[in-house]
Amino acid sequence: MSTQPATPGLRRDIAGHSVVELAEKFGTPTYVYDTTPIDARIQDLQHFDLIRFAQKACSNLAILDHVRRQGVVVDAVSAGEIRRAMAAGYDLQENPPAVVYCADLFDQDSLELVIKHDIHVNCGSPDMIDQLGQVAPGRNITLRINPGFGHGHSQKTNTGGPQSKHGIWHEEVEDCLLRADRHGLGVTGIHMHIGSGSDFEHLAQVCGALEETARRVGRSITSVSAGGGLPIPYRDGEAQIDTVRYFELWDQSRQRLAKEFGHPISLEIEPGRYLSAEAGFLIAEIRSIKKMGENLFYLVDAGFNNLARPILYGAYHPMSISPRHGGVPDTTAEVVVGGPLCESGDIFTQEEGGYVCSRRLPVAKVGDYLVIECAGAYGQVMSSNYNSKPFAAEVMIRDHQAQLIRKRQTFADLIQGEVIPES
Ligand SMILES: *Cc1c(COP(=O)(O)O)cnc(C)c1O
Repeated sequence: MSTQPATPGLRRDIAGHSVVELAEKFGTPTYVYDTTPIDARIQDLQHFDLIRFAQKACSNLAILDHVRRQGVVVDAVSAGEIRRAMAAGYDLQENPPAVVYCADLFDQDSLELVIKHDIHVNCGSPDMIDQLGQVAPGRNITLRINPGFGHGHSQKTNTGGPQSKHGIWHEEVEDCLLRADRHGLGVTGIHMHIGSGSDFEHLAQVCGALEETARRVGRSITSVSAGGGLPIPYRDGEAQIDTVRYFELWDQSRQRLAKEFGHPISLEIEPGRYLSAEAGFLIAEIRSIKKMGENLFYLVDAGFNNLARPILYGAYHPMSISPRHGGVPDTTAEVVVGGPLCESGDIFTQEEGGYVCSRRLPVAKVGDYLVIECAGAYGQVMSSNYNSKPFAAEVMIRDHQAQLIRKRQTFADLIQGEVIPES
């Protein structure tokens, strides 16, 4: 493997594959996933009884298959995600369940699939309990609880508290137990997923709330889930979360409950971002470099149609430059990085609220490549066809092999299903 050059913001390769060669072979924009960080993050969480990947973060079949082979199970928030899990080889008959449907509502399609394949449901609303109970009485369910407080890196990712739509409000637990009873549904687990953060004091509060809820449900509980929300270091200098300490806090809660209930309690974790974010790189080509007053813009062929996190949350992604013709630019510049879309918000260097900011990057030329890093979670999966842009190609690098795992969408794919009515 070649090493990265010392100049900050320069990148020659991804997992030993030259960025220029990847771009020439697969085109741009292209998502590239290096499986090494995924495997390392799975290892970090081995203390948990079960790692359930929140596939919404990165649901390409090849990625799901890759984590499946390491014993990682998945959750699904839609009928499409249930079907994806099946297509990736998950066996729905396994116990503990390989696929759990975890949402705040059923649409017709997801309810039918859940019934047909006897998929375990983690209910995020009282209505889900009734709707499932009416057609499939006697099953076991788990409850996703909103403990009344939350945590998240933005209002849009905060998943607890009164402004969150997620989960069953903590004061409604008794009502939900009655609903479950009415349909003969057994409540076997409690789940709390309240957003991203590495604040251990806050986490202790979550563990306390989960324990309290589990006690209210009682001895039917056999599993608890810590949800997702484990952060990853997006910026230089940010540390990896201490997963041992994270586990220990949850484990203490689990041990106390096991002792009180007199039977073992399985401890699950449900990471999305943590498993896949660092694995993903979005390669784009710089197509225009222009000055607007004091600002220097690098305009690339990827936009928020490919990666929406900056425009949605003002999310920060590390970026680097791969010069097409080698050489090492020895100077850097403050640049604004934008995409091709007809929308002034199509800027990768922006803060929450849409404030355009700049980034110090090596001086580049049109035709050089820009790599947007830590893009393996909520990247490709949030793509759109805005401006009739096709979905990017996806490539996975495993065992030193770079393989196409999603073809670039064609124009024919893009308009498939559209109809001009006969007049
Ligand atoms: C999105 C989601 C996750 C994963 O969240 P991350 O912040 O990516 O870890 C886990 N559980 C549930 C129920 C989710 O909706």
